[in-house]
Amino acid sequence: MTQSDRFEQGGLAPNFWTRKSLAEMSVDEWEALCDGCGKCCLNKIEDEDSGKVFLTRVACRLFDSDTCRCSQYNIRHKFVPECISLTPNSIPKHAYWLPKTCAYLLLWQEKPLFDWHPLISGSPQSVHQAGISIQGQTVSESDIDEDDWEDHLMEAQ
Ligand code: SF4
Ligand code: SF4
Repeated sequence: MTQSDRFEQGGLAPNFWTRKSLAEMSVDEWEALCDGCGKCCLNKIEDEDSGKVFLTRVACRLFDSDTCRCSQYNIRHKFVPECISLTPNSIPKHAYWLPKTCAYLLLWQEKPLFDWHPLISGSPQSVHQAGISIQGQTVSESDIDEDDWEDHLMEAQ
């Protein structure tokens, strides 16, 4: 996954997300697209019959609930090799489970970003202030047996 650790509005072309396709974005632009909601770091349960995906509040072992960020983003694959790296080409494959508010999904769907997105608000805190992020709401998968994840459901996707 991506995480906007390098949120620097000053170093990015103004409104680049409205002027460039996902494939045209630089690495820094791509990373800045992440709103920092943290929802893609939650474990999910998929209903095999309906295909519905439910988020749980059980987060990846590297997720820091207080900062709402990956604690080892740059070297995360050393510890969590299965962590997904979103790319313009892989979004279609993951679209069914990405949170509806995810900036990558929104732009792929040709929808605008929300006003609370840090690129629009100018503050990385706005995603938390708007109640979109999962900051302070998670428990670690290190502490919860996988058989008990369904006791921690958050929302359907
Ligand atoms: S769901 Fe999307 S916007 Fe939210 S943290 Fe993950 S990649 Fe970033
Ligand atoms: S390693 Fe875990 S916490 Fe880090 S980005 Fe991937 S899913 Fe999120």
